[in-house]
Amino acid sequence: MRLILLGPPGAGKGTQASALSNKYSIPHISTGEILREAVRKGDPVGVKAKAFMDKGELVPDEIVTEIVVDRLREDDTKKGFILDGFPRTRVQAESLDSSLKEYGIKIDRVVYFDTSASVSIERLSGRRVCPKCGGNFHLRNIPPKQEGICDDCGTSLIQREDDKEGTVKNRLRVYEEKTRSLIDYYKEKGSLKTVSGDQEVEGVLENLSRMFVDEKLV
Ligand code: AMP
Repeated sequence: MRLILLGPPGAGKGTQASALSNKYSIPHISTGEILREAVRKGDPVGVKAKAFMDKGELVPDEIVTEIVVDRLREDDTKKGFILDGFPRTRVQAESLDSSLKEYGIKIDRVVYFDTSASVSIERLSGRRVCPKCGGNFHLRNIPPKQEGICDDCGTSLIQREDDKEGTVKNRLRVYEEKTRSLIDYYKEKGSLKTVSGDQEVEGVLENLSRMFVDEKLV
């Protein structure tokens, strides 16, 4: 099953992608996570990307597209993959189309997480992450077992720089300006289905699982 998860920051794409990746044993490809890892390691790509990410701006198309095109060449994507946070612009969507054509594969489904701004903002402002292993928590929705500490590796949790209030507003503005139009792009191709991103994690996962069974994708 080859999926694209589309929706604003805070829609829950990452949480669902991670759950679906475990459930169906296919890789979760998050460009945000790949970029953050590059920043942590001080890789040249990370050094270039950091300034854009901290401001909530998009990293240039060439950089992210190359990351994804390279990642899709890896063996573990043969049985499927979940793209989370890519594509985010028309140029990225068109580059992805031409790479998929070259690889002789097609996206089975684009899932749009229809999410209200108030829910997105609440999720992003309450999110806490582990700077060491990348684990994701939320003060209210996914609290760690011990307050402020990562369940998986025991590191103190932090708030992402781009989850702070001013940057969140910019990320939502950038989404409206650059990414929202991809809904129509994929609608026209007939590959888009919508779920409500405002629901709780379990409800979204149930809807998605049912959708994939109904469509015989799993
Ligand atoms: P995310 O974790 O998906 O919210 O991504 C965090 C940040 O990484 C974004 O605000 C962008 O700065 C950058 N980023 C992630 N994916 C992309 C993309 N497809 N195109 C451009 N920038 C991206």
